[in-house]
Amino acid sequence: TTPAYDDNNVFARILRGEIPCRRVYEDEFALAFHDINPQAPVHVLVIPKGRWVSFADFSAGASAQEIAGFWRAVGEVTRRLGIAARGYRLLSNVGADGGQEVPHFHVHLFAGRRLGRMVA
Ligand code: 5GP
Repeated sequence: TTPAYDDNNVFARILRGEIPCRRVYEDEFALAFHDINPQAPVHVLVIPKGRWVSFADFSAGASAQEIAGFWRAVGEVTRRLGIAARGYRLLSNVGADGGQEVPHFHVHLFAGRRLGRMVA
């Protein structure tokens, strides 16, 4: 079962403008901003504007337009950052076993150095 969405999670507050962020990109479907604790030279978070706890409920419940708009925005962020040629990594933590801390679906975008192999 999907956990209820918490309207006071930190990314909901960023979407409402209650907490500042270093914005990279925004459109009707998504907002992208720099992670407050970067793990790579480029570490950006891309979040949908809808109330989705994780990829699990986003992928099951969002409209085709929302899903397409969100993933198109992720690509647009990579183009605006100029990282596409050298490469980058997309990652989303889902739920307890996935180590998710903020309960609003987000995709991490890492770039700017040769990233290590991901090993669970
Ligand atoms: P998770 O573990 O949920 O996938 O990642 C949450 C991410 O959100 C972490 O990388 C953390 O540094 C970032 N984060 C947490 N609070 C804030 C905040 O207030 N502002 C920004 N820009 N990033 C945050």
